[in-house]
Amino acid sequence: MKIFKIYYFLILLLLLSSCNKEELLKEDVNSIEHTSKTSDLSKQRTGLKSIGSGVMMQAFYWNVPAGGTWWDHLNTKVADWSNAGFSSIWLPPASKAQNGPFSMGYDPYDYYDFGEYNQKGSIETRFGSKDELVSLIDNAHEYGLSVIADIVINHNSGGDSEQNIFTGGSTYTDFDTASGLFNRSQYDFHPNDFHSSDTGSFGGFPDLCHHKTWVQDWLWNRTNSVGKYYRDVIGFDGWRFDYVKGFEPWVVKNWKNAVGGFSVGEYWDANAATLDWWTTQAEVSAFDFACYYKMRDAFANNDLTHLNGDMLWKRNAKNAVTFVTNHDTNEILDGKMLAYAYILTHEGYPAIFYRDYEEWLNKERLNNLIWIHNNLASGSTNILYVDDNEYIARRNGKNAAGLVVYINNTTSWKERWIETNWYSKTIKDYTGHSSWQPVTQSDKWVKIQAPPKSYSVWSVK
Ligand code: ZN
Ligand code: ZN
Repeated sequence: MKIFKIYYFLILLLLLSSCNKEELLKEDVNSIEHTSKTSDLSKQRTGLKSIGSGVMMQAFYWNVPAGGTWWDHLNTKVADWSNAGFSSIWLPPASKAQNGPFSMGYDPYDYYDFGEYNQKGSIETRFGSKDELVSLIDNAHEYGLSVIADIVINHNSGGDSEQNIFTGGSTYTDFDTASGLFNRSQYDFHPNDFHSSDTGSFGGFPDLCHHKTWVQDWLWNRTNSVGKYYRDVIGFDGWRFDYVKGFEPWVVKNWKNAVGGFSVGEYWDANAATLDWWTTQAEVSAFDFACYYKMRDAFANNDLTHLNGDMLWKRNAKNAVTFVTNHDTNEILDGKMLAYAYILTHEGYPAIFYRDYEEWLNKERLNNLIWIHNNLASGSTNILYVDDNEYIARRNGKNAAGLVVYINNTTSWKERWIETNWYSKTIKDYTGHSSWQPVTQSDKWVKIQAPPKSYSVWSVK
């Protein structure tokens, strides 16, 4: 019952003195840091490529090397990524988690410890120190890249045990962190005095209650809320929300309205209608898991007609982040380049997975597709032809000519007559796979070809 008493003692203190000295001091330090950083940051941010155009880099994978070197490692990559046409990088959860120097960050403990307090077994996080993180973000900004933070707010981990009046037992819900900011207790988790649960919990971790004013204030409302601290002190530009099935969509909407910036939710669900519902409720983007599963069925099961299926980008392209692989799932193995050719020529904001780009696939081929995405892939989409093994689609262009992509999942060259938007124009394959340079007929029809287990992308020469 000691903790219980302390909680009320704290409330009493807050009521008695609206300006607790220590709190005031922290606020002052924060607002000073806040002002000087903000002017730096707004200067740096004027040159950023807009998120949503270009391509996102998922700049980590599960169990990247530990030892506090990952931020520095990424720092050596940002110039190349910017030159290749990436517009943003998505970092793993950056603040101190229960598993300290070994954690990938999805067991968040102290949202304000970016590797500067000795707790949970180390000063640095698995990825490095706060200074290394800020230097990575500053450098990314120099090169026009926006930086997306991974925000884990469904659950917390690593609290001390306390007697819990709502469960009648003891729970690990006493978060008295080294930063001293956003301390939490049993009142901030389910079940509590507000209600017993929300839409989901994760792996038995204490499930944060976003209905509590204290939690909302600390996550997004206060000037030094988690969101505003990430934005103003650390320099993040956008948000990737982890496990958004675990709470209601208004949580993300309220965060975004208070903090601003590009936001994408991980609503892990194959149903395009459900994803569309969530993006409408949360008023942000979502990862297009519907597209992911249709591509998996198309390429892994050798049946490209699955690409006719329902996907988030077909319903709501501006809120769809498409992807082929991520840190949790890597099922499209054969035909992975074909899947990248699909997302990089179609609508939505495509994300490329670090290992696919840096280790597993041909970087030159991916760079070519990124160029095509940024220069030719505009306008609405028409599917021109699909069978089990071949897929042809046309992007109709906005200010550019658009393109025609031809994906061939057979082991021999294929060719087909298709209808373009171009009258009597010489066209070519911008991937360089085919050397044909046919002229479209006066009725816009033309014959194109695609190499075995590969693709071609056609546009006016
Ligand atoms: Zn709740
Ligand atoms: Zn939850």
